[in-house]
Amino acid sequence: LVRLRARLSRSQNSLGKGLLTLLSREHLDEDTWEEIEDTLLTADVGVAPTQELVERLRERVKVLGTRTPEELRTLLREELLTLIGTEADRSVKTDGGLETPAVVMVVGVNGTGKTTTTGKLARVLVADGRSVVLGAADTFRAAAADQLQTWGERVGARTVRGPESGDPASVAFDAVKEGIAEGADVVLIDTAGRLHTKAGLMDELGKVKRVVEKHGPLDEVLLVLDATTGQNGLVQARVFSEVVDITGIVLTKLDGTAKGGIVVAVQRELGVPVKLVGLGEGADDLAPFEPEAFVDALIG
Ligand code: GDP
Repeated sequence: LVRLRARLSRSQNSLGKGLLTLLSREHLDEDTWEEIEDTLLTADVGVAPTQELVERLRERVKVLGTRTPEELRTLLREELLTLIGTEADRSVKTDGGLETPAVVMVVGVNGTGKTTTTGKLARVLVADGRSVVLGAADTFRAAAADQLQTWGERVGARTVRGPESGDPASVAFDAVKEGIAEGADVVLIDTAGRLHTKAGLMDELGKVKRVVEKHGPLDEVLLVLDATTGQNGLVQARVFSEVVDITGIVLTKLDGTAKGGIVVAVQRELGVPVKLVGLGEGADDLAPFEPEAFVDALIG
């Protein structure tokens, strides 16, 4: 948690600090409110949430009358938390049934950090005493299976892979079968993320899902999004959500952008909580998404 705050504050601080500075102006005139709006839009918060937030801030500042810096900070903190939401269940389901492992499918466009996230998640689980099987169902990108296997060797998880350009669904099927045979706790399936056509993607991910469900329920479908891609990421999110039922979002590369507002935008877009955030390329750079820590990092 401390690390989350430290890592985030380096890149995100500007958003919260900027807002606080603007709110602290003696005269909050129309121009200032517009600047506040611009600051939020620039940070990828999105149009509707920005308008909601500004409206609520205006209302509360009016009621408050004179404002101390501490009051403004509290107010901004509360309103940002309301916008992000503190009620959602952000845990990743990694408990399967009595006899079967939990199955987590990781989806997203190539380059967003899917394989890295799968590896990091495996590491967290193994460190927590859980046994993990990895399924390298990204058979499209030649290096993906090697990359995943390297992660597996590093963290102590077996990787099930198939022939290059083979059928992703059959790798997923084998991985779950292996997980059951080994009595593993969790099977993590890395999928291919080529956004060729929606129909193609639907075919592929749909098939992976169907074969996994021959063994038992699919417990979690995590969509990996690159926080630095802004609106483009939202478009991708929409396409994936039309193809599979996303249960959680992983926002990667938050270390490399000041646009933390994408958290708000993507949750709105999908109606699904951000569950994990990527804060770097290293093995330990995956953290649970905690709204309070995130907002504290924003405001500094
Ligand atoms: P995939 O194609 O979606 O499987 O993407 P990869 O897992 O291969 O990741 C693409 C690149 O993004 C790699 O260079 C990763 O090291 C990098 N990456 C992944 N997650 C993060 C993150 O949270 N922060 C940063 N800075 N880089 C990341």
